[in-house]
Amino acid sequence: HSKDCVKVAVRVRPFNKRERDAGSRCIISMVSSSITIQDPRDSQNRRSFCFDYAYWSHSGFTRDHRGVYVPEEPGGRYADQDSVFQDLGEGILENALQGYNATLLAYGQTGSGKSYSMMGYGPNKGLIPKLCDRLFQAIRENQENRQCQVFFSMLEIYNEQVVDLLSRASRTPGGLRVREEQQRGFYVEGLRTVPCETAAQVEQLMEQGTRTRTTAATHMNANSSRSHMLIILQLKQIFSKESITKQSNINLVDLAGSERQRSSGSEADRLKEGTAINLSLTTLGNVISSLADVAVGKKVVHIPYRDSALTKLLQSALGGNSRTVMIATLSPADICYEESLSTLRYAERAKRIQNRAVVNESPTE
Ligand code: ADP
Ligand code: MG
Repeated sequence: HSKDCVKVAVRVRPFNKRERDAGSRCIISMVSSSITIQDPRDSQNRRSFCFDYAYWSHSGFTRDHRGVYVPEEPGGRYADQDSVFQDLGEGILENALQGYNATLLAYGQTGSGKSYSMMGYGPNKGLIPKLCDRLFQAIRENQENRQCQVFFSMLEIYNEQVVDLLSRASRTPGGLRVREEQQRGFYVEGLRTVPCETAAQVEQLMEQGTRTRTTAATHMNANSSRSHMLIILQLKQIFSKESITKQSNINLVDLAGSERQRSSGSEADRLKEGTAINLSLTTLGNVISSLADVAVGKKVVHIPYRDSALTKLLQSALGGNSRTVMIATLSPADICYEESLSTLRYAERAKRIQNRAVVNESPTE
């Protein structure tokens, strides 16, 4: 039974084409795990933050023969996908194998590198596929004293509706229901849970889910940057000699873009979006603020977990039974100053949250 704070990492990406074309300046600088952001209109106005990790992925890279982003020179400062995984992914895997729940959240404005860090693109595999590779490797290497089962689910929350990304039959009006049980906490009723035996199987399901997400968004004339994507990996380990079963849930969350959202649809859509699309993200912010207050000893009567679908599903990850890591992603550009500053503030609050993670262990039935 250990108290531990949410671990927070920040990562700054290279300029994109739009920023290069606009002749953008980089306003982010990093020294070890601290980060400084500079107001582009007032160079005296700087703010520094300290996190558990700060990843410089802005410059000093080159691409190898496979197209993988790597540091320009060995030992260079560019933080590639491997080094991010070493710090954040390995720990999550360790925790899960010990029987703890673990959660990894990516927060940041659209285009700042959330999906790149979590899923990755092409040969630049992100945290989730790397985690799966290592998970199945660990299972293969340690088969004598335990039997392992892995289950995979993938969903999105859009407009407070929960959509199963692995099931065609999920386009039910209103989405799937989030229910609560004493033992289990909140869960999605009827969510497809697929047993997996290889990382390749998981990767195929992730591709399927990502395709469903994109098509659904196009179909609804919506923007997938406004939905939250959640992957749940359940790991069950049965130790036959000791007659003990350990069970851990790994939540992997690619959050909706954190920017203040402007709607493009009809008046009715706008109204709905105003109340619902942001509801999960706003509530997440409120939950994080309340928990940050709790951590500094303020009296807080109510943590508003129940106010949104996302915070219900992440209840144990936030202030509960989970080891939690947040990666906050940033654009380096002066034109994104306000958004980047707000991301850093959000991340700073998240850092204060304290969880109480316990090993989920019970006698094998
Ligand atoms: P988000 O999911 O936050 O909307 P993406 O992850 O899709 O943003 O990133 C936007 C673009 O920036 C993508 O083309 C991606 O390849 C690129 N990118 C993001 N982070 C990095 C990084 N650390 N190194 C190199 N390219 C990156
Ligand atoms: Mg994305």
